[in-house]
Formats: sequence, structure tokens, C-alpha cells
Amino acid sequence: MINNRISILDRTPSQLADWLASRNHPTYQAKQIFEWIFLKRAVAFEEMTNLPKALRDELDIHFSVFTATTDHQQSSDGTEKLLVKLADGGRIECVLLRDGPRRSVCLSSQVGCAMGCVFCASGMDGVERNLTRGEILEQMLRLQKLIPATERLSHIVMMGMGEPLANLSNVLEALEVARDPSLGLGISPRRITISTVGLPPAIRKLAEANAPYHLAISLHAPNDTLRTKLVPVNKSIRIAPIMEASEYYFDKTGRRLTFEYVLLKDINDNQECARELIRLLRGRISMLNVIPYNPVPGLPYETPRPEAIYDFRKTLVDAGINVMFRQRKGDSIQAACGQLRRLRERQTIVLEGQTSDDLSGQETLSTLETTNALAREPTLNSRTVLPQIQESQIGS
Ligand code: SAH
Repeated sequence: MINNRISILDRTPSQLADWLASRNHPTYQAKQIFEWIFLKRAVAFEEMTNLPKALRDELDIHFSVFTATTDHQQSSDGTEKLLVKLADGGRIECVLLRDGPRRSVCLSSQVGCAMGCVFCASGMDGVERNLTRGEILEQMLRLQKLIPATERLSHIVMMGMGEPLANLSNVLEALEVARDPSLGLGISPRRITISTVGLPPAIRKLAEANAPYHLAISLHAPNDTLRTKLVPVNKSIRIAPIMEASEYYFDKTGRRLTFEYVLLKDINDNQECARELIRLLRGRISMLNVIPYNPVPGLPYETPRPEAIYDFRKTLVDAGINVMFRQRKGDSIQAACGQLRRLRERQTIVLEGQTSDDLSGQETLSTLETTNALAREPTLNSRTVLPQIQESQIGS
């Protein structure tokens, strides 16, 4: 069912207090309402039993806590993924990753993506729109509902669909709530990672936001010629201004930067690229995360052979570069970062009339397998976000 009420998550506590005052309710009830939602995990106003019944009914007429519907998937390693259908029909994805005591969530910031990275599924259809503050918060809360009340979300990575720095104000508003210990989730900014294609003015703005988030910059190539081929927006940005903006970020926040490098077979995995990367990164206080590519059906890119990955790594390590190579995680789950959404759209076409908005994980998986068989494609590999939210990649 599509819900047309306003998301209460799109209101700040002071906006909600104003709304309450305008209807002759005590303003302190705004605090109670958000405590119910963030701390007690309430999803309906009727659960808020310390509020008068008349107020709960009134809230219910004007607002809802959640406005989307979700399909759920779980992989054998405990990773869970939600394919979220927004109130206007837009589709995004978010993921919960369990890693020892950590409960990390990977969130989307936009419906689609405008950056056009040639190897990524998220941007294949361009960008539809920015997510609202409430839609970003709803992802956190829905994923929080998947863990027991005795556990807490510990880390956030903005590495799902979209470019977070192209939607900076809504992302910052949502993360501010995530950090708030009394009316939010109480997650330290040091445990929050924002991944960006590298938009220098927005990086500078973020540096001034007074919150030392961990910044990850998706580099993927050591020179502008190759980077512009892989990350088309680089044409009007260039690597040097990104490096300058990231130094500014480091100076302002004291947070060591991470550079991400998706390793693509026969494209950016050769020794010359490794040597150029060394020249680019030498002397910088940063970490290089090398991520073997997760193939996207329909795209011509491949994961490098293990020997190529080994040689690339050895050259960097021998030169003293701080480098991390990621292992894949969540192989049994369907691909994400736009891949699951694309599959679902095709599924709607292929299996017209046979889908529901609220399939259980089991049903979804079998439907996806059927779709793959119909489409004569192999089952998708693991997703792109999953390897990126492992312990070593994010703040402790
Ligand atoms: N737009 C932001 C955040 C979303 S993408 C950014 O560019 O950083 C998060 C990361 O996943 C990026 O580093 C992106 O390049 C990487 N990625 C996208 N598709 C991938 C794939 N198929 N395999 C491996 N990494 C991928």
C-alpha cells in the first residue's frame, strides 16, 4: 500500500514541537515521540502509550513513521538487505552487516546516481532524485528493527545507491540524528563513513560541518585520462582538486582519508597504474582500499585474476603505501548497489502480475532465481557494498 501521509522523520524535533503547539499540545511531547521512534523502535503512533489517545489519533491522520515498503533478503553470513520501495515508487537498497560485535548499515542517498561510473549498476539509469532526510533515517530504523532490542547499530556507511555529497544537506541532517544520543541513535561520527566520487566544493563544506566523519574517496584510477573513462564526472573535476580538497578535509578534521580503488581486469590493474598510484599517494596520510570488482550483469568489466591482484598489491606494499585489500562478503546474497533494484524492475516485467510489494525473503529469492533462469543469466555475484563495510575499512 502506498502511504501518502507525511513522514514524521522529515520533521526536526523543533518543527514537530511547533506543530504540536499550533494544535494546543504540550511541546515536550515532540521529545517523547522521537524517543519512541529512535530508542524504543516504535513504528506506529498507537504504540506510544504515554501520549494521550486523542494525540495519537491526530498524529496518525497527519503523519506516519515509515512511508516505504520493503522486500527482505538474508545471506548465509548474517548479512541482510532491504530493497526499499519509496512512497513515490522509487527503489533503493540498504544493507545490515554483522561483523563480530559490529552492526553496520550501508545506506543509499539518492534514487539512482548521476555520477555515471561505467562499472557501477546504480547509475545505469541516471539519477531520479535525492532522498529526503526522513527516507535516509527510515533506512536506519528499518535495519535497526532487524537486530534484537539488546543490540545497537554501531556503524553507518553511506555507500549504497547515489552520491551522498550531491545530496549533502539531507545526508548531514540525517547523520546528525544518527549521532544524537538522546533523540537519535547515538552513533559516534568516527563510526560513520561517507563515500564520495570526489566533489571538491562539497568535500570542503563537509570539512566545515564540524563532525569528523570518515571520508572515503572513490579514486579508481591514478591519472585523469583513465579516471575520466571510468568516472565520467572526472572530466570537469580532475584528480588534483580532489586531492587538495581531501588535504583540507584532513587538516580540518584530523581524520585519515581512505581512497577506494575498484580493481578492473586489464583496465586499472597493471603495474604502470600501481606505480602511478604510488606517486600520487606517497607522503599522504591515507589508506588505499583496493576492491576487486564485483561483476554487474550486462556490463563488460571483469574481476582481475588472483595473480594480477597479488602483483598489484605487492608493488604498492613494497613501496610502503598503506593499502588494504578486501575480501568478498555476503556471496550468497544477491548483488546490490543498484543491481538488486535493476533485477527487480526486470522481474516486474518478466513476471508481470505475479509480484507483490511485500514478498518475504524466501519468496524474493526464489522469484529472483526464476527471473535469472528466464533471463538466461547466471545468478548474480555478491554486491558491491558488502565488501566495503568490513571491520578494517571503517572507524573503530
Ligand atoms: N557515489 C559514492 C558512493 C556509492 S558507491 C562513491 O562513488 O563513492 C560506493 C563504492 O562502491 C564506490 O567506491 C563505487 O565505485 C563502488 N562500486 C560500485 N560498483 C561496484 C562494483 N560493481 N564492484 C565493486 N565496487 C563497486
